[in-house]
Amino acid sequence: MGQRLSCRQRHENALFTSVANGDLEVLEAMLEQDSSVLEETLGHSKLSPLHVAAANGRIEVLSMLLDRSVNVDILSRHKQTPLMLAVMHGKTDCVEKLIQAGANILMFDSLRGRTCLHHAAYYGHTDCLKAILSAAHSSPVASSWGFARFVNIRDGNGATPLHLAARQRRPECLRTLLDNGALVCASTGGYGYAGSTPLHLAARSGSLDCVRILLAWGADRLQLDSSGRIPFTVALKRKHKACAILLDPSSAAPLVWPSPLKFISELNQEAKALLEKALMETNREREKTLLKEGDMPPSPLHSESEDDIDSEASSNMELCCICFDQVCTIEVRPCGHQMCAHCTLALCCHKKLDPGAACPTGPACPFCRGAILQLIVAKIKTSSDTEVESSPTTKPRRSRRSNFSEGSSSFKGLSAMGSFGRMTGRNSGKIADEK
Ligand SMILES: [Zn+2]
Ligand SMILES: [Zn+2]
Repeated sequence: MGQRLSCRQRHENALFTSVANGDLEVLEAMLEQDSSVLEETLGHSKLSPLHVAAANGRIEVLSMLLDRSVNVDILSRHKQTPLMLAVMHGKTDCVEKLIQAGANILMFDSLRGRTCLHHAAYYGHTDCLKAILSAAHSSPVASSWGFARFVNIRDGNGATPLHLAARQRRPECLRTLLDNGALVCASTGGYGYAGSTPLHLAARSGSLDCVRILLAWGADRLQLDSSGRIPFTVALKRKHKACAILLDPSSAAPLVWPSPLKFISELNQEAKALLEKALMETNREREKTLLKEGDMPPSPLHSESEDDIDSEASSNMELCCICFDQVCTIEVRPCGHQMCAHCTLALCCHKKLDPGAACPTGPACPFCRGAILQLIVAKIKTSSDTEVESSPTTKPRRSRRSNFSEGSSSFKGLSAMGSFGRMTGRNSGKIADEK
């Protein structure tokens, strides 16, 4: 009996070794001899050849197996699909191939009741996450479940993919999920501590980037978990001091990605990137002050020397007529007025909106009061009158004396707007009234 088993094991080993190594020739030779080897499974976890090919990113083997009409959603012992394994190992090629071959993105494993979207967020594979989300738009999932519900899908413990990304310190995944409609204030069932929001979990993991992003997306610093703790308490307990400073409800609230911008249907990717960058920059400036007050070293992400170079390079560019501090990088359509990204943000998010209350109208242009239908990246005029295309990497001029970005900064743009109105003698009252 020992003889037979070891022979079978050798056979099995050869099969899975060739799959894992992507040795197509050896594999094809084996299949020619006996095509039933494809029904073999590996070890206790009962992985199929398709699982092993997916986990190892062997796209040729994977394609060959799919061509032989192997079941694309074949399950391992823990009801994990080949798609889940490809996602866990960050094999984006295989993820795309499996999805093309009809892999079901709405399968739950039996370990923690997680889907491939959970695994992508947990392991931090943003490309895989994007591939799944783009499939979710077009697959039957969208019509049966609805896309928004899929993005906020819960595992066996009530954790959404956003919770897992926050807990595992995956800022890129976090941003992608939020961009796709993940609910920033969802609370878990039993995952982590019961009733935790993504902000609680980011506080627990000590990921400053995740905390920043979640706050910028409107996460509530005062939301309690089931033990009655706010994220601030969680960060303190875990001794994540920098996170705690940002999470302290008594510190100035950060700028929040403005919901009126969602009314501008045609916010192009470039303009959006610019605005997002301005938002993060503004919050980082504010952070710098907070951390200084909290006796923390300043954020290494924004160095003084960088500022020096910037002000040299952009000194001859056209300044924003609202703040006279930053370069005009955003153009309002259809009227064509220009302002800087920071002022655009201040205009659109001068107060944190109650997420429950719908905003009846979108923002208006501060110069002509026309409705803002579209924001695009402005062409920057230099003093030599040559037009250069501004790119999202163009750094605005930043005066070191400026306190635009500190604390209640978002109001400054608006008060400056009022003074601009007075200076030009147009609409000043109106602007002040509607502030
Ligand atoms: Zn400005
Ligand atoms: Zn205008």
